[in-house]
Amino acid sequence: MSDTNTNSPAEKYTGKATMEKITSLAKRRGFVFQSSEIYGGQNGAWDYGPLGIELKNRIARFWWKEMTQLHDEIVGLDAAILMHPRVWEASGHVENFTDPLVDCKKCKARFRADHIPPENLAAKKCPECGGELTDTRKFNMMFQTHIGAVEEKANIIYLRPETAQGIYVNYKNIIQSNRMKIPFGIAQIGKAFRNEIVTKNFIFRTCEFEQMEMQYFVKPGSDTEWFEEWRKRRWAYYEKLGVKMDHLRWHRHGKDELAHYARDAYDIEYLFPMGWQELEGVHNRSNYDLTRHSQFSGKDMQYIEQETNERYIPFIIETSAGLTRNLLMILCDAYDEEKVASDKDGGASGNSGAADDVRTVLRFHPSIAPITVAVLPLMKKDGLAEMAQDIRQELKEDFTTDYDQAGAIGRRYRRQDEAGTPFCVTVDYESKDNHTVTLRFRDSMEQVRVNRAELAERLRREIREYKRIN
Ligand code: ATP
Repeated sequence: MSDTNTNSPAEKYTGKATMEKITSLAKRRGFVFQSSEIYGGQNGAWDYGPLGIELKNRIARFWWKEMTQLHDEIVGLDAAILMHPRVWEASGHVENFTDPLVDCKKCKARFRADHIPPENLAAKKCPECGGELTDTRKFNMMFQTHIGAVEEKANIIYLRPETAQGIYVNYKNIIQSNRMKIPFGIAQIGKAFRNEIVTKNFIFRTCEFEQMEMQYFVKPGSDTEWFEEWRKRRWAYYEKLGVKMDHLRWHRHGKDELAHYARDAYDIEYLFPMGWQELEGVHNRSNYDLTRHSQFSGKDMQYIEQETNERYIPFIIETSAGLTRNLLMILCDAYDEEKVASDKDGGASGNSGAADDVRTVLRFHPSIAPITVAVLPLMKKDGLAEMAQDIRQELKEDFTTDYDQAGAIGRRYRRQDEAGTPFCVTVDYESKDNHTVTLRFRDSMEQVRVNRAELAERLRREIREYKRIN
């Protein structure tokens, strides 16, 4: 585990992605669209298209399996977005969930005070135009609305700014219904809302987003050990996901960065095209949240050890990842541009003898790729299309599939490369004679012949044994 306490200068980004390229590919191929685009768009909100929702679901599924299926002592929950307003008083959000805000009097730009250089803040000088900045003001980031017909203070309700509180208020329910014993965890994936002052960098920071959070309840005194254990596990998770590990690093929160509830906190940061940014937080939240809920609700939040009758309020180790931010990370991480000789791969450029062309390829791990396998008949005629349709039908139960019969085969491969489809199956004249098909690999562009009857098993093996080659 690379454990840098990172005040190191930002390394130079070596990937091929830029935010412009990612945003445009995402729109072109139906991963992510701007919300309400025909009305000029809605700031901080995005819509996930056919490939995007598939990718998002698969990342979520990958995380969910890791947390619940592979951990006997972690169970799932799906709590409501709307919670009793007292929850947010107890959690400290009503009082403390604020961003420091400054405006430029001249160019009217708005900044988070903690996101601009300290010298600008001290001199009250706009980092963009040099104009005068206002004093720093506190701005609560919770979205507030009213429940019921009457808009008055008594009816205020909040859109949850994090999923964690839904877990804390259910912790006793889950102990009782599922006979959980400490240490144990509760995992949840769901929407969260924050009235972010500055939303930029595509889906990196949005007002509506999704989180994948796991809260692990431990005995006081064992929290430091569990905290280290969860740091290791979360690092191993990203290794398993197959992302570039030299694009990940730890950042430990200094005393002035620690949230009001935290004893210790690390972020896993990713090297995005715009620099190192937080991807996930691993926090030791102490017994702060349960103690506060006990005080505010009047309910006993103590855990009772059955063997010893010992009572205590557990400490909580939290792993909190952004699902939508993970999706952006995966898009950037997978993005590649590669020069290919024009006669390779079926002459994708369509004019053989022309200069090399560049293919855009998303090197997703096959376990999360939106389409796992595309079936392509070499020609529409002579029964090849029908045979390809049959093969797609056979693969459908086990894999997400696509079918494409339009245009030159090389161009079809490129379309699948750009969608991140790891495997293409091509049906040609030989297929009719000997029941074999061509299996073409996205990353290497290699092609092998496989018996039709063994295709599904071969794909399963390729997914299991997948190693990224570049
Ligand atoms: P920041 O300081 O960048 O505002 P944070 O430290 O408040 O973020 P947490 O409250 O720890 O973030 O949230 C946990 C995770 O949720 C983050 O690591 C991030 O992946 C995700 N997340 C938080 N805010 C947003 C947002 N506005 N848009 C998208 N993802 C977010």
